Amino acid sequence: MSQNKKISAPLGACKRVALVAHDHMKDQMMEWAAERREQLARHSLCGTGTTARLVARQTGLEVEPYQSGPLGGDMQLGGLIAQGEIDMLIFFWDPLSPQPHDPDVKALLRVAALYNIPVATNRSAADFLITSPYMDREYPRQLTDFEAGKEE
Ligand code: PGA
Repeated sequence: MSQNKKISAPLGACKRVALVAHDHMKDQMMEWAAERREQLARHSLCGTGTTARLVARQTGLEVEPYQSGPLGGDMQLGGLIAQGEIDMLIFFWDPLSPQPHDPDVKALLRVAALYNIPVATNRSAADFLITSPYMDREYPRQLTDFEAGKEE
């Protein structure tokens, strides 16, 4: 696999932000989303089912819900990242409890790393991301072209 050739895959000024919080982290997510409502309102939001509904109720913002995480929501988000349809992931995963869908959690984080999207896995990182100047302007994301050099 060639690791050299890069593809330009900019993230637009208006971001599609995915929100996910494990059960013990949902209060933190709601608190954070309420605190950051003004910044979040400038973007397009989605998330795993329960998180999306709770954040929508808490903030009054539209948050498109996918399946609940344990029912495949993480995998749906992973698929959307691979399709270039999610620009950023705010994922408050629970560092103290095993999850029935641990493999999906790992897969979601893997795909997010592979597609080079910004990811926050705790509140501090989420604050750093949401206050970045790149939130409101295009970010020149680059991806590795893994197809380069392959035979037709
Ligand atoms: P939920 O899923 O938002 O539907 O609770 C989150 C998760 O556990 O991955």
